[in-house]
Amino acid sequence: MQDYREFLAETLIDEATLKARVVELGAEISRDYAGQDLVLICILRGGITFMVDLMRHISLPHGMDCMAISSYGVGARASSGNVRVTYDLQTNIADRNVLLVEDIVDSGHTISHVLEMLQTRSPRSLKVCALLDKAERREVEVPIHYRGFVIPNAYVFGYGLDIDEYYRNLPFIGVVNLEKYKPEG
Ligand code: 5GP
Repeated sequence: MQDYREFLAETLIDEATLKARVVELGAEISRDYAGQDLVLICILRGGITFMVDLMRHISLPHGMDCMAISSYGVGARASSGNVRVTYDLQTNIADRNVLLVEDIVDSGHTISHVLEMLQTRSPRSLKVCALLDKAERREVEVPIHYRGFVIPNAYVFGYGLDIDEYYRNLPFIGVVNLEKYKPEG
């Protein structure tokens, strides 16, 4: 695999800035849900790094669970809005306050479909916490109750976000220079 420095166009959000924002979001969520039940739900795999960090800054007892979906349709990196659950929650969310934790909202199709699907399970409340918001790419309107950063239209990686399933471990968010990135095989 290539060293990420070969195709890193720029560091968009450095580690310290990410950490500080996660602390703020955790505090905000702790205030808003004080005295209430809460369960965080992460969409695998991109959201997991963010959720695990966020949990440690939520000062309330809360549950967590994960689900996996696959989007299919238009191109490898595009989201068509057709989502299929490939791994479902093990938690019954009926009558619970659910906070969906996402890495990035791009067109909005994925989150919109996941929200629609979760709503059929009768949660008491259903809100969205997204680390990154590529607002100018939005095709369907989605509610984002907690937002880490609004970012420009660029393909980003690191802090849970992948390029061809690698580089999720990097502690910052970087922009890919697609001309310099060489996919394996
Ligand atoms: P949407 O349905 O909002 O268009 O797409 C959301 C999903 O697309 C995200 O959960 C993420 O998996 C993927 N995605 C969108 N933009 C990026 C990006 O810049 N980098 C990476 N690694 N994934 C992205």
